[in-house]
Amino acid sequence: MAVPKRRTSSTKRDKRRASAWTLKAPELVKCSECGDYKRPHRICPECGYYKGKKYLALD
Ligand SMILES: [Zn+2]
Repeated sequence: MAVPKRRTSSTKRDKRRASAWTLKAPELVKCSECGDYKRPHRICPECGYYKGKKYLALD
């Protein structure tokens, strides 16, 4: 079985663990129908359009 040759330093270990917790804000694109910001590849929650087609019946 492979065994690590050197003990991982606390700095290296902590940096590795910290990188998994870097949270990123979700990407936002402008809706082509209403111009509002929405998540990409999702139906716009404001007007219900996606790729020029109405998918959600909103009032
Ligand atoms: Zn929209």
